Amino acid sequence: MVLIIFNLRRVKSTTKSGESMHIHEFQEMMRQLYFTRDTERGVSGTYNWLVDEVAELGEELKKETDKEATEKEFADVIAWLASLANIMGIDLEKAAINKYNHKCPKCQQSPCQCTF
Ligand SMILES: [Zn+2]
Repeated sequence: MVLIIFNLRRVKSTTKSGESMHIHEFQEMMRQLYFTRDTERGVSGTYNWLVDEVAELGEELKKETDKEATEKEFADVIAWLASLANIMGIDLEKAAINKYNHKCPKCQQSPCQCTF
């Protein structure tokens, strides 16, 4: 899941009511909204939805025209990722920070110095 490689502090955003939201809080919001349904669907079914949403994002990226539509596809991807993490009992924010704590986990540098 390369889509989650970003500076977590930049993800902190404001909602329409002006409050800030971290990844952890977003994941908790998704839990409140969908946990029962996500649990009933299960890991495999929820993973399949995530894959479908990633594919939809890919299709939107090819268009390169409608930023608002692209934003909505990004939102769908992180929403389904959060749903999957919820039913797996994984804290997305903790997992992301543990692996990408201001440095590349491979070369340990910031910015990354890996030669691909
Ligand atoms: Zn690197």
